[in-house]
Amino acid sequence: MTRLPTQRRHSVPVRIGNVVVGGGAPVGVQSMTNTDTADVEVTVAQTVALARAGSELVRVTVDRAEAAAAVPRIRERLDRQGIDVPLVGDFHFIGHRLLRDHPACAEALAKYRINPGNVGRGERRDARFAAMIETALHFDRPVRIGVNWGSLDPELLARLMDDNAARDEPLEADQVMHEALVVSALESAARAEEIGLGRDRIVLSCKVSDVQSLIAVYAQLAERCDYALHLGLTEAGMGSKGIVASTAALAVLLQNGIGDTIRVSLTPEPDGDRTQEVVVAQEILQTMGLRSFTPLVAACPGCGRTTSTVFQELAARIQDHLRARMPQWRRLYPGVEAMTVAVMGCVVNGPGESKHADIGISLPGTGEEPAAPVFVDGEKTVTLRGPRIAEEFQAMVDAYVERRYGGPADSDDGPSAAEPAAPSTAAQ
Ligand code: SF4
Repeated sequence: MTRLPTQRRHSVPVRIGNVVVGGGAPVGVQSMTNTDTADVEVTVAQTVALARAGSELVRVTVDRAEAAAAVPRIRERLDRQGIDVPLVGDFHFIGHRLLRDHPACAEALAKYRINPGNVGRGERRDARFAAMIETALHFDRPVRIGVNWGSLDPELLARLMDDNAARDEPLEADQVMHEALVVSALESAARAEEIGLGRDRIVLSCKVSDVQSLIAVYAQLAERCDYALHLGLTEAGMGSKGIVASTAALAVLLQNGIGDTIRVSLTPEPDGDRTQEVVVAQEILQTMGLRSFTPLVAACPGCGRTTSTVFQELAARIQDHLRARMPQWRRLYPGVEAMTVAVMGCVVNGPGESKHADIGISLPGTGEEPAAPVFVDGEKTVTLRGPRIAEEFQAMVDAYVERRYGGPADSDDGPSAAEPAAPSTAAQ
């Protein structure tokens, strides 16, 4: 695969707890809980799950006094479990009051998300916004000024509409909307700076739910400022629609070097796994060759040459196995996250694709001799046969990881998670 050169946009680095975003740091992965923050037990459990899945920042809703009071207890419980993921507080409407009345909450949070459209109107808005920024200054915390199309400041939109109507050549309505989002973020950031917040304490986001609008808005934002940018398609939706829409929007922006952190806002199925949004965000970054998190399994889609589900089961088994082993492997085997594995269905593309992977297997298709050649570092090493092919191949993968990545910690076999990864050569 030829990798197109991606020039990362210059942005001011922002430290959020133990994480740095922007300034050339690897693009970060964020997520958000959907629990009632006042319920400490369930919020801790979900935060732990999100952090273990790889979320580098976890945002929690802080919507009322009970939620604000719970935040320091959540932080304490996470610390006791050794989970040091920074918590971000999501504030709307009464954030100024909650931060003022709950200093322990303000201190436990590593960043405050402020939506300038949900702070109030007129002078009250300015006073409340200033109060939140002053709290951030007092506790030395960064803020994300997170504009959202669904809650855009109506006064600002009306002002820009009036300005537009007075132009000789008025812009289209959606262009005015894009401009309103960008101006809301930039004016709020300028106000925060006037109050005393440094540029290295400000992250911006402008979320919309339409792919083309998101790309247009962030292109503008990237051109007009050097604040660190958080990307996300808001209300992306459920299932494949949410994944495809988020991927389409984020991939275009990331390929243009725009974006310092990302979140994939999937709507989970009822009782679905919240960590899916973390996995998807990681897969977007990894399949684009920007970072590596978990070895990729390349598997063919199958066709009339495969009448059994053997190769599908093996591909799923190996992917699940790799994910399950990664928490341990990440510590023991630096660079393993960039490994590529191929599980292919027949002789047509199987040997070729398997040779391109670090380790690959080509299973027998319909009518082929029941033999599965295994390729390691491009060379055929062994042919597996019989009913235990899956177990034997899994054991070979484990042995390969130990042999290739088990060297000293400073081994230069493969990139580290903090470095841009080589693109997967086996992506299908
Ligand atoms: S590798 Fe074989 S089984 Fe898989 S899609 Fe190609 S032809 Fe079909």
